[in-house]
Amino acid sequence: MTQIAIPSPATDVRVTLPSPAVPAAASGGADGQTLIYAATETPFAFVPHTDPGAADALAARARDAFETGPWRVMPAAGRASVMRRIGALILEHAEELAHLQTLETSIPLAQARGMHVPRTAENFGFFADMLASLSGESYEQSGAYLAIVTREPVGTALLIAPWNAPLILSSMKLAAALALGNSVIVKPSEYAPLAVLRMVELIHQAGVPEGVVQVACGPGAGIGRALVQHPDIDAIGFIGGTATGRRIMTDAAASLKKVGLELGGKSANIIHRSADIERAVDGSLMAIFAGNGEQCLAGSRILVDAPIADRFIEAFTARAAKLRIGDPFDAHTEIGPMAFKAHYDRLLAFAGTAQTDPAYKVLTGARAAPGFEAGYCFAPTVVETHDNMTELCQQELFGPFAVIQRVDDLEDAIARANQSEFGLAAYIWADDLPTVMRARRQLRAGTIWVNTPMARDLRAPFGGYKQSGIGRDGLPGSIELFTEEKSTLIPNAPLTLPKLGVGS
Ligand code: NAD
Repeated sequence: MTQIAIPSPATDVRVTLPSPAVPAAASGGADGQTLIYAATETPFAFVPHTDPGAADALAARARDAFETGPWRVMPAAGRASVMRRIGALILEHAEELAHLQTLETSIPLAQARGMHVPRTAENFGFFADMLASLSGESYEQSGAYLAIVTREPVGTALLIAPWNAPLILSSMKLAAALALGNSVIVKPSEYAPLAVLRMVELIHQAGVPEGVVQVACGPGAGIGRALVQHPDIDAIGFIGGTATGRRIMTDAAASLKKVGLELGGKSANIIHRSADIERAVDGSLMAIFAGNGEQCLAGSRILVDAPIADRFIEAFTARAAKLRIGDPFDAHTEIGPMAFKAHYDRLLAFAGTAQTDPAYKVLTGARAAPGFEAGYCFAPTVVETHDNMTELCQQELFGPFAVIQRVDDLEDAIARANQSEFGLAAYIWADDLPTVMRARRQLRAGTIWVNTPMARDLRAPFGGYKQSGIGRDGLPGSIELFTEEKSTLIPNAPLTLPKLGVGS
């Protein structure tokens, strides 16, 4: 383990870099990822890549742990108590996990500490509680048979996570798959593996048996793809971009794996004339600027009703322009730098489009944040346009970049909201109940947030329509992905069966 100082003037906290929890054979020598702290562009860690050739060893270990180890056959109460221990250890190590995640993602520490780490712990607690209420089904209507339907773990599950909220997202899948008795291999993003590696060390410390949870580090094209294609992986829980999701589904098809895909979004945020405008401004700022705007569920396409448009746009833009940008370890920072250079450069290119294409009017931002000598600091951006089919309204930009359109009425808002290849979430701000009810029915998205940004209830499914995914997180989608259903038929009385093969 290596002790490092966090390269931020705002803190002298030291964290312990986790060692990659992969089999010795799996670490890839000189091949690996140098992680760069985005606020200062300082390299701070090197994480070896798992060699793609290690996929066999990882899958075999997972299979062996599943088939011969104690986890799958452990009574549910035993698994639940280990899951609770994991949640407790995560809270005990909250500071360290939050610091690691902030180092590698530049999500402000206050958000990592206040929201990401507690939710990560809650994910384990939630699925521990779920175990107590899992039930099967039985049918006896046929009169002749009792048919019972039970669920069993799917076996070996590969969980692939993106870089933008590594703890919450990987733990959501991990907690579900683990609680249900599977063996798992976690593949964090090559850009943000550290907090996940540390979390997996805590999972081992909590008493999860050998081989049940393993980690593979490296790029998608290397170890990621090798595991996706591996015949001994039974299910894949993927969270990431839509193009990657398509590739994974294609690769997984050869061995007919179960696949759950949580993909990109370009979520509409409708501000209706009946809305409480101040609350709508507060919520819309959170919806696009929390988590540095690097969120699948960001309310990035704001559709504001004509009669209130000037008022809303003026207030929203003024507040966006005043967001505090900078060192993510500073308690006052509201927007940290973009997580890594390629991503920052992509946002600058979109900013260039906004500045030069007459389809857009830049209201604030659309450039590098002024006043920073180093760091991938992007100015919070608000752009207005009339055309929902423009690039900035249709592409997922994945940053602090809001695009506003004025709409004639609710019908226009709903039509534009649905005019997207994505369908992850939609927001509506309205105090008129029939408006809310109509929007709820007609919006084509997996989650509708009414007068609230980004609330989650883990009992409720979360996932996307259209190109935003297949399957759902939460319940019951996790059960669907990480278990197999089994029907057992038992006759009520000894059967008189036809006698085959008795003829002469
Ligand atoms: P990405 O698709 O580039 O990568 C995601 C993960 O997939 C990484 O771990 C990567 O290494 C791996 N990967 C890439 N190619 C692979 C392959 N061929 N085989 C196996 N693994 C492969 O996404 P990203 O840039 O890390 O994350 C941003 C994207 O994730 C955005 O589109 C965002 O909307 C989406 N996202 C979706 C949700 C959701 O719940 N719907 C949540 C967070 C992020």
